[in-house]
Amino acid sequence: MARTVHIVGAGLAGLSAAIELTLRGEAIAVHEATTFAGGRCRSYHDQILGMTIDNGNHLLLSGNHAAQRYVKLLGAEARLVGPPRAEFPFLDLANKEQWTLRINDGRIPWWIFNSGKRVPGTRALDYLPMARLLWAQKDRAVGEVVRFTGPLYERLMRPLLLAALNIEPSAGSAALAGAIIRETLVLGGQACRPLVAREGLGSALIEPALALLRERGRPVRMGHQLHRLHSSGTRVEALDFGADKIALESDDVVILAVPPYAASALVADLKVPTEFRAIVNAHFRIEPAPDQPAILGLINSTTEWVFAFPGRVATTISAGDRLIETPRDALARTIWSEVSAATGLPPDLPPWQIVRERRATFAATPEQDALRPGPQTRFTNVLLAGDWTNTGLPATIESAIRSGRRAADLVA
Ligand SMILES: Cc1cc2nc3c(=O)[nH]c(=O)nc-3n(C[C@H](O)[C@H](O)[C@H](O)COP(=O)(O)OP(=O)(O)OC[C@H]3O[C@@H](n4cnc5c(N)ncnc54)[C@H](O)[C@@H]3O)c2cc1C
Repeated sequence: MARTVHIVGAGLAGLSAAIELTLRGEAIAVHEATTFAGGRCRSYHDQILGMTIDNGNHLLLSGNHAAQRYVKLLGAEARLVGPPRAEFPFLDLANKEQWTLRINDGRIPWWIFNSGKRVPGTRALDYLPMARLLWAQKDRAVGEVVRFTGPLYERLMRPLLLAALNIEPSAGSAALAGAIIRETLVLGGQACRPLVAREGLGSALIEPALALLRERGRPVRMGHQLHRLHSSGTRVEALDFGADKIALESDDVVILAVPPYAASALVADLKVPTEFRAIVNAHFRIEPAPDQPAILGLINSTTEWVFAFPGRVATTISAGDRLIETPRDALARTIWSEVSAATGLPPDLPPWQIVRERRATFAATPEQDALRPGPQTRFTNVLLAGDWTNTGLPATIESAIRSGRRAADLVA
């Protein structure tokens, strides 16, 4: 009898493993605890706004090659959209200064030498210390490797690293920051083009995967939470879902693609990251201003990024733990006043929704990074996947998708 690969968790890591294995002809079964797929990267219908929104704005870069491959396998690459060039408009809300960072294609960073393309107020030489992050040791924080002060830090490095690491950059892992720079800025503009799921994360990254699995006769089993692994020695013998139990055949394999706290509850003594950081998103039901860019970076404001979607303006604040207890309506008003000042949209608060994801990502400090396990566990037939496993990247879509593919490769 052909083996079955049981994939537990239908976030992007689990779906990536499921798609890879299905396309290789493996028999799989996906078990998801909740009633929806996508985990921390999902769309849902919001009652207050009366429209489908994402739990959070997600930005990909064209250098995210595993994510690009994933959407190609699904035939959904057209659903991630972005400008043909790596251009990032910014606005400093303190003095209303505007600029657009323009990263040229190719590996030679001509943009650094062009005052019309680099960050205003910086000199080409200011960019040199960034290179130290490329060779940073794993136990170092960004603040120990480079002392960025001044416009380059405030206007480029801080927004970039805060968004990528979801932690105040000085405390973030220098090695993870280096990995981001190596896979984007170092490769030039073609690796830095911003990509967003304009019609929603569900339609770009989740629904096409569920449709492919359904077509192949392998639908995700929703509301099927794994409670326990029954093991004997170094093998897991059965999966216990509470109401039902699945006995494993000798060749069967399990991929646990669940968050770290769920994985450590299932596998005793598993070392996992234990600290997390929040992301706060606000969504406003309003048509974006006619000249509003798809993504606008804000400096000197609570709001960090403003996204324009059809009929909706949405904002992101990373490492947003300080805002978890702020009353929702006060937060909505603060954010909207900044958006209105930045875009020229009317100051009256439109219908809004605030989504606060408390455990959006593990805290990307060197100490927490050191707790990330590889894909193997102490059980010979259980593998791990998830953005929090040791992928060498911070907790991102790219990390999740790579981890799923790595687990699929190991099954093979
Ligand atoms: C607000 C927000 C904004 C973000 N912005 C970006 C961004 O701009 N760019 C970017 O690249 N990344 C971003 N991220 C990170 C990205 O969303 C994650 O890295 C990615 O979605 C993680 O996928 P995953 O599969 O590893 O984990 P998850 O999405 O957490 O999936 C785990 C799944 O396992 C299921 N599960 C848990 N326990 C069990 C169990 N016992 N049995 C069965 N199923 C179980 C869960 O329900 C869930 O569906 C953001 C995240 C958030 C929250």
